[in-house]
Parts: sequence; C-alpha cells; structure tokens
Amino acid sequence: MSNSEKEIIKVFTGKSHYDINIGRNISQKAFEEILENYNDFKIAIITDSNVERVYSDFLQKLEKNDRVFTLSFKAGEESKNRKTKEILEDNLFELGFGRDTLIIALGGGVTGDLAGFIAATYMRGVPFIQIPTTLLSQVDSSIGGKVGIDHPTGKNLLGAFYPPSKVYIDIDFLKTLPNEEIINGIAEIIKAAIIQDGQLFNYLESKIERVINLEKGYIEKAIISSLKVKARVVEKDEKEAGLRKILNFGHTIGHSIEILSNFDIPHGRAVGIGMAVETLISEKIGILKLEEKERILALLKKSKLLDKSFKLSADEIIRKTALDKKSRKGVVEYSLIEGIGEAVYGINVEDKIVKKSLSEIGFL
Ligand code: NAD
Ligand code: ZN
Repeated sequence: MSNSEKEIIKVFTGKSHYDINIGRNISQKAFEEILENYNDFKIAIITDSNVERVYSDFLQKLEKNDRVFTLSFKAGEESKNRKTKEILEDNLFELGFGRDTLIIALGGGVTGDLAGFIAATYMRGVPFIQIPTTLLSQVDSSIGGKVGIDHPTGKNLLGAFYPPSKVYIDIDFLKTLPNEEIINGIAEIIKAAIIQDGQLFNYLESKIERVINLEKGYIEKAIISSLKVKARVVEKDEKEAGLRKILNFGHTIGHSIEILSNFDIPHGRAVGIGMAVETLISEKIGILKLEEKERILALLKKSKLLDKSFKLSADEIIRKTALDKKSRKGVVEYSLIEGIGEAVYGINVEDKIVKKSLSEIGFL
C-alpha cells in the first residue's frame, strides 16, 4: 500500500457485509463520508477522556455541525461497566437521540466495546461505526462484532454480537499513542500470526522493531495481515460455535492475569504472557515442536512482552481460568497450537501441566 492509497477489506457476516477502510490521514474524509451517508441521522461520537483531550480540536470542528455530539467517559478498563453504559444512555436520552441515531466509537477497545454495546441495545439497536485509535483496536477489537462490558465476576460477561456498519482505520492515530499501548497491540498481531499466518510470523521475526517503531510500510503490512486473519476467521464462524475459538489463543491465561492484576497488566500484555504460557502447554502435551516453541518465545521476548516481573501466584491464575466464560462446567477449554500458523481449540489440559508452564514463565 503506498502512501496515498487506501485499502479496503470486506467482512462478510451472516446477512450482509461491512467494509474496513485502512489508510493514513483518512479520518477527516471518513467523517465527511459519514455525514453524507447518514444525512438524516443525529450522530453521537462516544470517546474516552484521553482521546477527547488529545483530539479536542478535531472534535470541536466536527461538533460545529448541529447533528454531531461528543459524549465521553473516563478512560480505562474500569469504565467498561454497567454504570458508564447507564450514564451514556441517560446522556443520549437527555440530548433527544431517537431511532435516527448513529453511534460512532472513537477510541480504543474499551470505547468500541462499550459504545457498540450501547448501540446494540439503544432503541433495540441503532447503526454503529468503529473508528479505532489504538493499535489493539485497529488490529482486533474493532472488527468481528463482539461488543460488551465487564462485570465484577469477569471480563466481557455482558454483551452481544453486533457488527459495525463500517470501520475506518486511520493509522495516523497511532502517532499520539504511548509506546506501552503499541506493545499491547503488538501482542494481538503476533497472535494472529501464530494462529493462522506463518508468513506473517516469519516477517515479524525479522521486522518487529520496525513495526513497533511504526515505520511506514511495515506497520501497514502488520495491521492489514492481522486484520485479514481476524476477518477470515470471524466470517467462517461469526458466533463462536467452533473455529473462532482459535482467536482465544493466549487469552485463557491472559484474562486471568488481567483480572487478578486488577487491570494493572493491560489486555495486550496479559495476552502476550498468556501466549508464552500456552505455547509451553502446547509443547508439553506433545502437539508443538520444541524448535517452534523456541521461535515463539524469542519473538515475544523481542517484542518486550515478557519484560516485566510477575507477582501473581500460579494456583490463583489456574483457579481463575475455571471462571472464564469459555469454560464448560468448570472445565477449561484451551485454544492451543500445533505449529506456527496452526491453531486448535477445545483442549482440556491437566492443572499440573498448566502449573509447570506458569512456573517456567516466572509465576510462583
Ligand atoms: P483502551 O481503549 O483503554 O485504550 C488504551 C489507552 O489508550 C487508553 O488510555 C486510551 O485513552 C488511550 N488512547 C486511545 N487512543 C489513543 C490515541 N490515538 N492517542 C493517545 N491515547 C490514546 O484499550 P485497548 O487496548 O485499545 O483495548 C482493550 C479493550 O479491548 C479490552 O477491554 C479488551 O477486552 C477489548 N477487546 C475486545 C475485543 C473484541 O473483539 N471486542 C478484542 C480484543 C480486545
Ligand atoms: Zn485479545
């Protein structure tokens, strides 16, 4: 993809399809297109406090149009809950939003999940557009149609399948993103490579530094390749009856770590650690070759995903995995790997193997 070009990926859902537009500096144009396509709609841009601050000039310009309103909430995973949903819904009613409402999620995965779930239930569902602004949301959460919020019992326990009408990915948003958030997104890119795209994995092995530095051409290639992996998987299994479960590689352990750390360890980083543990599990149960295990661990290390020290106990992590919504009758089903680019799902693993794998990564 050259500089001025933009790439379009189509995602087919059960009934129809939606487009993902990807490019640099496309958000101005995206809004012009939205205003035209939804010319008799009232538009609510839902965003978080950080994005609202960093992009205040951009938002103020948009709000000059009397059909456009910005609604924001305090940034962070702690806001992805019923309380915030309620406040934002009250705001929508107070502003007189009716059935002719378009909701735009402008922000990271927290914003997309929350705004999408509001769109799914407001007046029994109003159209919804994703404009993801973090690397993680650009490569993962903005597509696939899963929206929802957390409950103290666990993550994403209240939600819906509600595909967006369109997704605009403006790579320039990443310029203002803190480095830690880039590392978070890298985890999901590596996941896409490990589960479905061996060629992308080879590419990342030699180019990961350039991708992390957001170098032109390299970041585009990484984003587009991982989007394609996710798009092709969710098309085959929109509602997660089977194949889609492979996207959970690294997430069984990852979610437990995320929750037990009280979200101090953010999603991407937790998934990075989870992938390391689940790679060891795959090798220990005899489905993954030693050499491939080493390559995966090396890439995770090179991406700085295994840098920090961990203070959580292995037993606690294991106990938490049983509460994950993906477990059946308390028996955890892991998505693991048989090779780089080849994932499998629905695997039961003995606790002692999980524990040994956790301890090798550094959990006591
Ligand atoms: P996030 O939305 O909290 O964003 C991370 C931080 O970056 C926030 O502080 C945010 O304010 C800030 N930020 C966002 N864009 C910015 C920009 N352009 N410049 C500067 N700062 C910016 O977190 P995230 O990592 O994007 O998403 C994580 C969430 O996504 C989790 O809740 C996870 O469960 C969810 N998720 C959902 C799916 C799905 O399929 N629905 C998939 C993966 C993850
Ligand atoms: Zn994830």
